[in-house]
Amino acid sequence: MKTIEQINTQKEYIKKVKNENQNKNLHYSILTMGCRLNENDSEKLCGMLEQMGYTKTENFEDADICVFNTCCVRENAEDKLFGKLGELKKIKEKKGTIIAIGGCMMQEAHMVEKINKSYPYVDIIFGTHTLHKLPEDLYKVLENRKKVRDILDIDGEVYENLPIKRTSNIQANVTIMYGCNNFCSYCIVPYVRGRERSRHPKDIIEEITKLAQEGYKEVTLLGQNVNSYLRSEKWKEKGQDWNGINSFATLLRAINKIDGIERIRFVSPHPKDFTDDVIEAIRDCNKICKLIHLPLQSGSTNVLKLMNRKYTKEQYLELVQKMKKQIPNVVFTTDIIVGFAGETESDFEDTLDVVKKVKFEQVFMFIYSKRVGTPGAKMENQVPEEIKHKRFNKLKELVESQIEENNKKYIGTIQKVLVEGKSKNNPKMLTGRTESNKVVIFEGKEELKDKIIDIQIVSEHMWYLRGKVISC
Ligand code: SF4
Repeated sequence: MKTIEQINTQKEYIKKVKNENQNKNLHYSILTMGCRLNENDSEKLCGMLEQMGYTKTENFEDADICVFNTCCVRENAEDKLFGKLGELKKIKEKKGTIIAIGGCMMQEAHMVEKINKSYPYVDIIFGTHTLHKLPEDLYKVLENRKKVRDILDIDGEVYENLPIKRTSNIQANVTIMYGCNNFCSYCIVPYVRGRERSRHPKDIIEEITKLAQEGYKEVTLLGQNVNSYLRSEKWKEKGQDWNGINSFATLLRAINKIDGIERIRFVSPHPKDFTDDVIEAIRDCNKICKLIHLPLQSGSTNVLKLMNRKYTKEQYLELVQKMKKQIPNVVFTTDIIVGFAGETESDFEDTLDVVKKVKFEQVFMFIYSKRVGTPGAKMENQVPEEIKHKRFNKLKELVESQIEENNKKYIGTIQKVLVEGKSKNNPKMLTGRTESNKVVIFEGKEELKDKIIDIQIVSEHMWYLRGKVISC
């Protein structure tokens, strides 16, 4: 079935479920684990559930359907899922709650087996390639009260025009491609999300134009490897383009022209694919934030080789230098895995060395844990847990001292801040973010929400800056 027909079929199921649910005042809850791509998938799940007549609740106890959108990148996600499933058993016995589990973890056969065996009361299991079929799967459960297992092992299609309920009305996530071809040896993503598939440029531009018309000011382009956008489709080699778009760089330039959009971010690029045309596009496009998330993973060339990252410590540092030269005021954030198999003390020192040299705005640090099915899990020389933790603490100390140092540089500067609304910790204050993604807290009227305003930074704290309004 063609993708358009598939989506039309699902729209029919949405109507059928909505009819079943009429006048029942039903609720759904959703737990999202993992990355921004999963968050964007959850926004689509929420969109479908709301169109089927469910209203969101934060309490699992109040929900008529509980959806888990899982991640298999970190070990603790499994514990979290099984803990919640245990809690839900009694609630389901009392009120017949429907339980649906989807996402990356459900693409792993051993996980599905475990759920079937130990948690047989789960109603729906769907994978990353069958997310769009939630209406059909749910309808089958409502009609037949039978369990549905809907997982595809082959790469899924790119489905457009699914309903969506976004979590913000000013910042939007826009997935531009699915899957990954890189097979980093610690990572399970290529096995559970399949090979790279890019969305058609027309669909992306139309989505962002619509977002701008609805008042969205910031978009974050999402993909496992955004800078290989359209590469696996070989658009450039085939001489294809759509309104001049045939690569990630040309896509960035086209989005920069959309009226109403004021900030463009993207995650994550791969350092090995950071081509000059992308650097030039970032330099030339005024709306692209000059904060680049550039995943390092390790600063050691030996470990990078074991990780199958396809760049060296020196190449990473050269890339950073090149960008610093070409893009005024560019700053970086990164991801680092501590304690990958084979990491020696001197390898770890190399990681610290890169952190000292680049001076990242933020470092997302992870302790390596084996993922079943990846080459990393089978490697010898796994690092003992206590050494991993020791190294992690050392890195954390360095990163925090650098953040503190770096934050001081903001004091007295005037920053353009996109106002998100009231601060969660102090509702008398407003909160927003700088172009470099720093949280700023300040006093101001609620009407400032959704605007980009000038704020002078007056003091710094580890995880936020304090400021005062200069102009609106
Ligand atoms: S680039 Fe590497 S780390 Fe990122 S999703 Fe692909 S395999 Fe995983």
